[in-house]
This record gives sequence, C-alpha cells and structure tokens, in this order.
Amino acid sequence: MPDLPEIRQPFKEAFPGDYSFNNYPRHTPHVLHAVVEPMNSPHPQLILFNDELGKELKISRDHLDFFSAQRLPQKLQLYATVYAGHQFGNWAGQLGDGRVMNIGEMSSLEGKALELQYKGAGSTPYSRNADGRAVFRSSLREYLMSEAMHYLGVPTTRALSLVKTGEEILRDILYQGDPQMEEGAMIIRTAESFIRFGHFELLAARQDWDLLRQLIDWTIKRYFPQIKGFSKQQTYLLWFREVSQNIANMLVEWYRVGFVHGVMNTDNMSILGLTIDYGPFSMLDEYDLNFTPNTTDLPTRRYAFGKQANIAHWNLVQLAHAIFPIINEASALEGILEEFSEYFWQQYDQMMARKLGLDELKQDDQPFLLECQKLMSELNLDYTLFFSLLEKVDQQTPVLTHFAPCLYDQLEKSQKKQLQDFIQRYITRKQDNKISRIQSLEMMQKANPKFILRNYLLFEAIKTADAGDFKLLDKLVQALKLPYQELYPEFSVRRPEGASDQPGACMLSCSS
Ligand code: AMP
Ligand code: MG
Repeated sequence: MPDLPEIRQPFKEAFPGDYSFNNYPRHTPHVLHAVVEPMNSPHPQLILFNDELGKELKISRDHLDFFSAQRLPQKLQLYATVYAGHQFGNWAGQLGDGRVMNIGEMSSLEGKALELQYKGAGSTPYSRNADGRAVFRSSLREYLMSEAMHYLGVPTTRALSLVKTGEEILRDILYQGDPQMEEGAMIIRTAESFIRFGHFELLAARQDWDLLRQLIDWTIKRYFPQIKGFSKQQTYLLWFREVSQNIANMLVEWYRVGFVHGVMNTDNMSILGLTIDYGPFSMLDEYDLNFTPNTTDLPTRRYAFGKQANIAHWNLVQLAHAIFPIINEASALEGILEEFSEYFWQQYDQMMARKLGLDELKQDDQPFLLECQKLMSELNLDYTLFFSLLEKVDQQTPVLTHFAPCLYDQLEKSQKKQLQDFIQRYITRKQDNKISRIQSLEMMQKANPKFILRNYLLFEAIKTADAGDFKLLDKLVQALKLPYQELYPEFSVRRPEGASDQPGACMLSCSS
C-alpha cells in the first residue's frame, strides 16, 4: 500500500485532551477532546471513493485499510471532540463526537488545509447510549448529498470514501418499535474545520472562560486570518459579524437550491457556515414553506423549509450568549444579530432576482417576489422545475402546457388564471431589464439547478444498491457533478406518484 500524505493534528495539540483511551460514556471536564480507538471492521468493502477529492489530497483508492480505519499511520491517535448544544430549542448539555473520530489535517494540492474525520467508526466517550456506528443508507445519503451540495456551489463538508464495514447493526428506522439489522458503513468526510457553535456553548456552560477565549482566538487566527490589526474587542465583534454573514450566505444558498436540513440544532451549526451533519435532510419537490422531512420534527415543524433563516438567527443568538462573557459588549452583539435579518433578506432577494433573471431589483419588485412565492405555494409547483421552465418563457409560450411538468395537482380555473397572469407580469417585468436576453438567461442558468438529488432518487439508489445493483448509484454520482446541465433527462422530472408514501423516500427520522 502506498504511503499516506502527512497528517497533522493542530486542534488536538492546541487544546487539552483526555488520554485515558476509554470509550465508556462520560463527562470529560476541563478538556476539549478525548483520544479514541476505532472498532474492528471484519470485512470492509470500498463502495465509493471520491477520485476528484482524492486527487486534491494525494490519496488514491488503494487505501482501503485507511478508509476503514483498520490501519493508521504509525503513532496517529484519533480523537473525538466534545461540544454541547441546543436540540429542538432545548439545552441538551454535553454532546460531542458520538460516532465521529477525527483523523487530523492534510494539505491539498493547492496548499489548503483540510480536516478529515471518520463517521461511523465506533463509540467514543460522547456516544451516550448509542453505538457510534452508522448504517449504509445514512452514510450513502451523507456522501451523495454533501457532494451534490458541493457541485451545486453550496458551502458544505465533503466526502472522500464510503466503506461497508461488514458488520450488521440494529436500527429502528422510524422509531416504531420494529428494529431491524442493517449493514454498517463508515465514511471519511472533510472540511476546513468541523468546529461547531456547540463547542463554544460547551465552554460557556462550563464557565471555562480561559479555554473559551483560547478557542475563540485559535479559531480566528486559523480560519479568519483576514481579521487582524484590531483591538481584542473589535476583533471578536468583527469575527461574530463574519460568522453571522457566512451563516446567512449558507442559508441563502439553501433557499436557492431548495435544501431543508431537518435538524438545525446548534451542535449542527458550523462556525464556518458549512452545511454539516446530513441526517433527515431533503431537497424540496413541491414548494412548501412548511415542509420538514424529519419525522421527529413533525409536531412543531421547527426546522421546516421556510423557518430555516429564523432558526439560524436563533442559533446565532445562542452563540452570542456563549461568547458574551469574553466580549462584554451586549449592544454591539445585539446590533450584529439585528443586522443578520437585514443582510439575509438583501442577499435572499438578490438570489431570487438571479433565479428570475432580473438584473436589478427595484423598490416595487417586492410585491412581485411575494407573488412568485404565493404562486408556487398555492399551486403546489415543483420548485426546481418551475424555475427551469421559466428560463424558456416568452410571449409565444402556451403557459398551461409549458408549465404542466412542474404541477403535482390539477389546476382549478382560478389557478390557471393566476399562473397565466403571473407569467404575463413576469414577461412585462423582464422588458425593463437593462441586460440582454442572453445575459439574463445565463444568469438564470447559473442560479437554477437542472438536477437535484431528490429524496426518492436517494431512496431508490439505496434500495437497488442494497440488492447489489449499483447502476442507479453510479448514474447519480455522475449527475450530481453537473447539476446545471441535464445529463440524464429522466432525473429532471417531478417526484413520481406514490414515492412519498414510503418511509425513507420522503420522511426520515434521525435514526442512522
Ligand atoms: P445528530 O442528530 O446526528 O447531529 O447527533 C446528535 C448527537 O448524537 C451527536 O452528539 C452525535 O454524535 C450523537 N449520535 C448520533 N448518532 C449516534 C450513534 N449512532 N452513536 C453515537 N452517537 C450518536
Ligand atoms: Mg450532529
């Protein structure tokens, strides 16, 4: 087996750790990580390897022992980090990497440092009452979706490899008292950093102000090097503003492509504004602000599509509370939190303008944007297909037949008129554009994906791969790399009838 590139562990070296090499569930006061050992995998099998990312990291697919955590470079100690968080709006206390083991950092060909971690390699002190394992279906979902998001241009963690461990594990897929054995798997995922809001919340809860300040300083120095030359206080405030803007930018991108995360707990919020921890997520089929894919979230729909920006704000408030004792500037922090909404909506409207091919937004465009949203909700239109079809609209377009592919329901007479009126207004509005038709079209084509990884496709790919047929999976891997083209026209259609009735095809739980 060829040698692996150099691995560094700056986080592990910078912060105190627990070196008792025990994975029994416990509190680990005073430290930020604990060293851990991966489980044995009896018969690991490489299912997916990311050639592009591998090339960037100078790792070939010949490292099965490494991808399955069965052979590590000499002396390398894996570690799990400890964090806390608010789950579904409630303080949850200590959480931490319960089924994640950090490998360390490698340099990419371009000299960028990327952290690598295993997900599903066994239990850690932070596994609480769970097993530290991951099942094949959820590992495949994370691998494919994080790569799909990357190619869509959304800030995200990525996936390098997916290995079936050869071990069977017990899961109750919908928490209905019907556990089944499922195939275990693990992935290696990468990100510039996996630090979460919850890391800061943990230290605040412990009232460990020295370590909290150290973590903030370290984070700024490594990941926000552009903030320098200011006083301490100002540095912290500029950092918090940048975190807020990164989060807002991520949210705008989620809305652009129609992504619903499903579990926006503060422990799932990356300090860099990356999409992280793919669980019961979904892409939108029909436009529905109230849609949540997460069965655990059903009573309140806290994490529904349309609420995600508000929740991001709520999460930022929790982060502000955590770092306040170090900054001591309540009104300045509140000011930044207020700016969040203004900044988000500004970016959101501009994003919508790009999806619609409008060059600049005017004051009286607001009602038009709202009308667009109302149309999509009331007529239950497929979000992705509606914008693709809009690209081809002109005066001659027979509106009702043209938009038929994005309808899930038969339209009533008044709804047909609503659609026709909207399109007419749209055509009239576009005549005010200062850019050419071609420029407008190009703007739309960059903003509107033609391929999205719909949940029913993931569901089918898992089902067929489970049965040993990898054709659909291979095709999806190709399609997700070119989301702004129609590589396979059969994927650029609305969700087929009946697909939403199967558990796992549309509704998911956190069980993974
Ligand atoms: P999540 O909902 O995936 O963000 O996980 C919330 C918390 O539960 C985190 O601390 C995870 O590490 C932990 N967790 C989730 N699934 C498992 C598992 N199978 N084994 C151990 N810990 C887990
Ligand atoms: Mg998580």
